[in-house]
Amino acid sequence: MMSTSTSRPSGKKSKRSRVARSNWLYTQQDVQSLYGVCRNTVLNWMKYGLRSIETERRLFLGAELNSFHSMRKRQVKSPCGRFEIHCTSCKGKHSLLIEPFDVAEAGRSRTRVSLTCPETGGKASSFLRETDLEELRHHLESKLSAETPV
Ligand SMILES: [Zn+2]
Repeated sequence: MMSTSTSRPSGKKSKRSRVARSNWLYTQQDVQSLYGVCRNTVLNWMKYGLRSIETERRLFLGAELNSFHSMRKRQVKSPCGRFEIHCTSCKGKHSLLIEPFDVAEAGRSRTRVSLTCPETGGKASSFLRETDLEELRHHLESKLSAETPV
């Protein structure tokens, strides 16, 4: 068992465990410094389902941060879904349903799609079957029309 001492600022060099305190509320700034990420990364996490509490300031509950990140860790280990790209840049996965992506010239049976990693700015790409690409476009269209108020 570790001692129960309360958080004592440890040297900057030591690897801090990036675990949030369950019942603490974190501002977006706090989240950025806790994980050492930029604002865009936090916004991107929100696209992937990190929930925030919107008051005059955006707040994140520690327990939510922890569960979001353990969920992401599990997802990285599981194989990519049909509309996911494994990103060699951030070692994570990106969903084509969420990120904007480019479609390269269609191959005979597979088409290369690529996107810019929202966390590192690197490129990630994958190959999709024409039928999957069709389905993906269909998903995106229905998502768009669902979001656009008529
Ligand atoms: Zn990435």
